[in-house]
Amino acid sequence: MRARSWIEVSRSAIAANYDAVKRLVGPAVEVAPVVKADAYGHGALAVSRIAESRGARWLCVSNVAEGIALRESGSGARILVMADSLEASFRPMIDYRLTPVLHDLAEIRALDALGTPIGYHLKIDSGMGRLGTIASAPQIAQAVQSANYARLEGLMTHFASAADYVSSQTAEQSAEFERLCEELARLGVRPPMRHMSSTIAVAYGRREAWHSMVRPGHAIYGYVSPVRAKGAEPVPLLEVQPALGWKTRLLVVKDLPAGARIGYGAQFTTPKPMRIGVLAAGYADGIPHRLSNRGRVIAGGRFAPILGAVSMDVTTIDLTNAPQLRPGDPVTLLGRDGESSQDAREMARAAGTISYSLLCGISARVERVYAD
Ligand SMILES: *Cc1c(COP(=O)(O)O)cnc(C)c1O
Repeated sequence: MRARSWIEVSRSAIAANYDAVKRLVGPAVEVAPVVKADAYGHGALAVSRIAESRGARWLCVSNVAEGIALRESGSGARILVMADSLEASFRPMIDYRLTPVLHDLAEIRALDALGTPIGYHLKIDSGMGRLGTIASAPQIAQAVQSANYARLEGLMTHFASAADYVSSQTAEQSAEFERLCEELARLGVRPPMRHMSSTIAVAYGRREAWHSMVRPGHAIYGYVSPVRAKGAEPVPLLEVQPALGWKTRLLVVKDLPAGARIGYGAQFTTPKPMRIGVLAAGYADGIPHRLSNRGRVIAGGRFAPILGAVSMDVTTIDLTNAPQLRPGDPVTLLGRDGESSQDAREMARAAGTISYSLLCGISARVERVYAD
């Protein structure tokens, strides 16, 4: 059966992106690829396998179910579960040898109460105001040191504004994290690992934030967002390439007369006779509804505007520049076709969203194909 819509993930691009991060941070820093949300739509099992074959010893996921899926697929890596510290998750963490990130001192006591030795990482809220403890160093030290089974392996934090070189928030968060780590060390709490960097802090060379491990997601998939800066723009030290292409097929090609209304709400009316194509993918596949009347795809190697509303299962495009195409022919949503290319950042920008959201939004009914 031929797919209506499919993504093609390049294994060699994922491998090259992982290698590029590894080269940049050097041998002393662990690279823990973030494969949450099915590896940002790229397929967590496939991406993990590639990363492990390149030497990755750690993987990061968001929740226990994601961790179990990796473990059951045969992953032997350490798996850090970054956002699932509800008590009900602790037993499966132990059973599947997952490593929880804890965000509250009560969680340390609850994990310890299970009576099974397990390592955990403690997240510090250094000023993002989201996950992580805001307890003082003496309080943290007391909770860490009174546990008998739960063992602190790492201290971590996360930056809220790493891409904003105008704001001082990252420097403030960094300083707060370092201050807390030093105070904890004086109190006898010296876990072997410390980590705080995701893609931006890696790519733009914030070396003081690399410590023993970095947690890149976006970079592994081939993206480094630009930063906001005043004056001299920092340049990324990391060169990566998008690993995912996305295609769909033309369902229908037809010629409409001038004045024809297209799609829900008649958001577009043909100003002249036009050849249109109806694509076999819509917002249920992950094409943002916000691309209605404003996005574009690549048909026959040339850009083709989206006409009218993106609907659930289909999207209508202007085929004026690709009159040779026929039903069944592939059309490119993301990737290169001939002289034209579009990546997730460009499509996301047109939709008023971010590349992360676009990639994660490519839905389960879009087939995944892997190429070397
Ligand atoms: C998602 C996530 C990352 C990865 O971020 P990227 O910008 O994709 O590199 C790193 N750390 C934490 C805590 C995350 O939630």
